[in-house]
Amino acid sequence: MCRLRRIKRKSWQSSCDKDVLLNILSVLTDLLSLGTGRRIHYVISKGGSEALLQALISAARTKPPDPSILLPLLRLLARVGQQDRKFGIKVQKAEATDVILSLTKQNLGHHLNLTHCLWVLRVCASNVAAGTTLGINGAMELLFKVITPYSKQHVRTVRAAIEALAALLKSKSNSRQAVNRGYLSGLLRLYQDWHHNDVSNNYIYIRRGLLLCLKHITNIQLGRETFLGSRGMEILFTSVQDCLSCKNLDPIVTTVTQILRKCYPKEPLPLVTVRSSYSFPLPGNIKTERPCMGSEDKLLKDDNESDTEEDMEKDLNKDDVEGKEEDYDLETDVNKLRSRPGLDRPEEELGQYEAMCPELSHSFQELDSESEEDKKSEDRTENLPSTSSHFIPSGNSVKDPNHRWRTQSGTEAGSDPREKDFKASLQSSIMKEKCSRSLISEQREIVEAVQNANSYEEDSAKSHTFSPCLLPKEAAWYKKIFNPECEASVEPNSGVRSETTEIMTDLLEEHQGSIPFHSPHFYIARAKCTKSIPAYRDLAFPDFWGHQPPPYGTPMLDRQYGVQRDKVLDDVRRLIQPGDLIGRTVFDLDEPSLSSPDAPCCLTFFSKFESGNLRKAIQVREFEYDLIMNADVNTNQHHQWFYFEVRGMKLAVPYRFNIINCEKLNSQFNYGMQLVMYSVKEALQGRPHWLRAGHDISYYKNHYRCSAAAGGGSRGKCYYTLTFSIKFPHEDDVCYLAYHYPYTYSAMMSHLDVLEQSRNPRKVYWRQQTLCQTLGGNTCPLLTITAMPESKKSDDVEQFYNRPYVFLMARVHPGESNASWVMKGTLEFLVSSDPIADLLRKCFIFKIVPMLNPDGVINGNHRCSLSGDDLNRQWLTPSSQLHPTIYHTKGLLYYLRSIGRAPLVFCDYHGHSQKKNVFLYGCSIKETLWQAGCMVDTAVITEDVGYRTLPKILDKVAPAFVMNSCSFLVEKSRVSTARVVVWQEMGVLRSYTMESTYCGCSHGLYKGLQLGTQELEEMGSKFCLALLILHLKSLPCSKKVMAQAALLLDLEEEITITDRAQRRYSNSSLETEDEPPCAEEIDYNTDSCSDGEGDFSELDQEIQECLSWVEGEAEDEGETTGQTCSSKALRGLYISNQPASSTQLFL
Ligand SMILES: [Zn+2]
Repeated sequence: MCRLRRIKRKSWQSSCDKDVLLNILSVLTDLLSLGTGRRIHYVISKGGSEALLQALISAARTKPPDPSILLPLLRLLARVGQQDRKFGIKVQKAEATDVILSLTKQNLGHHLNLTHCLWVLRVCASNVAAGTTLGINGAMELLFKVITPYSKQHVRTVRAAIEALAALLKSKSNSRQAVNRGYLSGLLRLYQDWHHNDVSNNYIYIRRGLLLCLKHITNIQLGRETFLGSRGMEILFTSVQDCLSCKNLDPIVTTVTQILRKCYPKEPLPLVTVRSSYSFPLPGNIKTERPCMGSEDKLLKDDNESDTEEDMEKDLNKDDVEGKEEDYDLETDVNKLRSRPGLDRPEEELGQYEAMCPELSHSFQELDSESEEDKKSEDRTENLPSTSSHFIPSGNSVKDPNHRWRTQSGTEAGSDPREKDFKASLQSSIMKEKCSRSLISEQREIVEAVQNANSYEEDSAKSHTFSPCLLPKEAAWYKKIFNPECEASVEPNSGVRSETTEIMTDLLEEHQGSIPFHSPHFYIARAKCTKSIPAYRDLAFPDFWGHQPPPYGTPMLDRQYGVQRDKVLDDVRRLIQPGDLIGRTVFDLDEPSLSSPDAPCCLTFFSKFESGNLRKAIQVREFEYDLIMNADVNTNQHHQWFYFEVRGMKLAVPYRFNIINCEKLNSQFNYGMQLVMYSVKEALQGRPHWLRAGHDISYYKNHYRCSAAAGGGSRGKCYYTLTFSIKFPHEDDVCYLAYHYPYTYSAMMSHLDVLEQSRNPRKVYWRQQTLCQTLGGNTCPLLTITAMPESKKSDDVEQFYNRPYVFLMARVHPGESNASWVMKGTLEFLVSSDPIADLLRKCFIFKIVPMLNPDGVINGNHRCSLSGDDLNRQWLTPSSQLHPTIYHTKGLLYYLRSIGRAPLVFCDYHGHSQKKNVFLYGCSIKETLWQAGCMVDTAVITEDVGYRTLPKILDKVAPAFVMNSCSFLVEKSRVSTARVVVWQEMGVLRSYTMESTYCGCSHGLYKGLQLGTQELEEMGSKFCLALLILHLKSLPCSKKVMAQAALLLDLEEEITITDRAQRRYSNSSLETEDEPPCAEEIDYNTDSCSDGEGDFSELDQEIQECLSWVEGEAEDEGETTGQTCSSKALRGLYISNQPASSTQLFL
């Protein structure tokens, strides 16, 4: 190779010796046609492109140019140039654009030569700057002349010209020129001609080439307008219908779909404002606008559509940029990583949290005197769930826990001796009026509510009575009661309500407490105390009735071939064939009068219940509906979660639903995830299940944009459509559809009631306190769970006080209901009578905030609280007014730290919408610095690797958990999350975010399955098991504990999990917004202009095929001179045609 280079340089400097040149060209051709691209890259790295360009310029100077040199040279240039990223610049530097252009012009009448010139032209034009120069100098006119009018003569030349034109049109100035000269409609006509005449699909490349021209031209606004004006949508939409059935034509269908999507006229969402239907006045003088605007502006600016060339370039390099940004986000300032910021509040304030640790001042003097009481409670717990020994509560293993509540009087809870302690500790607390409603009065309210729920007393003084959305026994009955418009007409004591009550009583009779850890009575009682902005009057049936995990797992949905393009084309059809469009609003939260729920042949929608958030439903066609979700309260964004009721369906008809205002760039809905559905008829027949449902699911960018007016001054934000089809299981059923298994605030509160009732108070220490009131006036519960001391002997009480803390919380993001199901599993396990749970309680004191954002959950938000803030970005400096739950959770953690009791483990449960499996995010200085490529001085930075132990244990014990998905990096954008703040400010080594997928697992036991509530709950209980193993591994344990553990656990394996220095850095799992973009490739974005045509493998093939078709081409041309030239030109390809001596001389 080296020798060759020397020879090359030498000979081309004195490029007079034609034989020498021919020899070199043929040797190069041979070398480069063999093997891989590595040889070409070697040639490029040694200045091959420049040398070939010089040779071309010299060759072009000879008049007339010698085709025997020119043609092999052009072929080499095309092949080398396409691999050379800087070829365009080199061409311009060598001032070769004019040479190539004039060569092309000279050969217009000679198709073989012309084709060669066009190849090189195309390669040059793939660089936008070089393409622009070529365009200014008349390249497009030239090419247009070659390709029009339609003719099947010289098809190879036509193809080369079209592909060169497509490359030129990547330059926006060329596109503008092309539109101004009327080429766009010319290209459309030409495309139609080729489409109609290519019946046997022999010219797919030409057709696709023309489409690529159109695709590039329509990257500019002027192009899109002209395309629409030239009936481009109709022409392409109509033509593509003939192509759908033939898989060979996929490249054509794909490109047509891309053009149609891009040119579909942009529209604002069919809403008066995208701002949430619900607004909430914030305390103080804080404007409700404030919290969301900052981040929103930034978001929108990044996402603007624009027309400039730089953006185009930026687009092409997007992948690189994103990769860099991720690393850039890592915190690399060692001082910042190691710093421990001071308190964010006056130290005196911490005193108030002493009251939240009643366990530390409890004397347990009552232990012995309570023995009688205990015996009783032991009796009564016989039938309760906590007595059954099992890991994962399931229908089979749990005896009916509701049995007792039916007959029990509500006052029993009130006479519980434990409540005295409650009162005492509360009185001594300095929680002041921050909590407007004291625990005591709340306790009473619940007792009352439970009483009411149990006895169904008519009490018109009650603020509101709840009705579950029931199955209408008669349509008229339903109308009277549940039509929200008629609400005003429902008067107390009118007789209507007693009818409702009757039905409820019947229903509850029927229910028979079939669902473990759920009581409809408790649910109603709790729901009555739940405060929502819209003042809900209805209960969603599934929340009230309860859910049982189905007995089988659901595999992930296979993505059907072409589902996205079919849906997209169906959307485009609205524009082109509007004949079957209905376009009627059938549900509107903002304008209830517009809703026409009783229109014939139309579904009835409803979502004014806890966690419901449907804002608008539009019947598009007979069986197709566009749905719009409500934005988070006080914001105009964060659409992802959905939960609504639908009724009045026909049997065996697939209904198509499109949720048209999604915002995430990508979704697991493209990778096997289904939504969930609950059928009331099924539930009443004994199958109360949320099931994965929906087929033909796809998630893609649509034509809706956030208009300047609606977006509050921002523009250009894109929306995405989640589309799915559903065949409902019953005629005229009432069904509920949701993003994920719903779990409301009332569900959580009533679950806590059930747990408290079901535990064994002799063994389980349980305190439920109010952490604080939320902005919306709901209580945020704080739980303390541990084991009662063995006795009141000082040793036992001492052991009790000294147990390390574990701090758990969930649901800071209201749309992440999976986090609540995991928490449900954790709680049920913690209070259970499972011997492992028993041991675990003896090892730790658990502090748990099971729902950090009750208001968000209640009002159907996805991400934020009522202040419009993402609460998991407020941990650095939470506001006591705006973010009370965060402020006080942090306060409690400060307090624990101040008394030397910072938790051993802190974990915040979340849901992850873009990844599979369950995994942890933790914090490590060293891993962060390593990942960022910083030099780490291990002598200076010492770090306990104990943060890896828990995830490693989980990897072994929890089937849904995957260690490889975990990450321990500290990102700048995450400095205000709970995980990072608790790690940094509280000094908690094991501070984690636990992310549970909405979708399913790609590893382990559940591989290929979507997760159900049972698997999520199991995750919660396995987390507890892992904590016990962590304790045994990392903390000094009494012999007694170890002996018990050895009995219970098959610890051989678990306990010997050693800290093998197994450093697998999962840099792929960097969290960018908790949910990084999905790595899986899918066409969900039409805006990028890189789509495979930059790949020249086709051109390579064409050049390789050159030999075989030269003869045919000559026939086509019917020019004898051409034939002669061709044969001559071919000679250059064969060394054997050259004098042997000269060959030997060089090699
Ligand atoms: Zn989250």
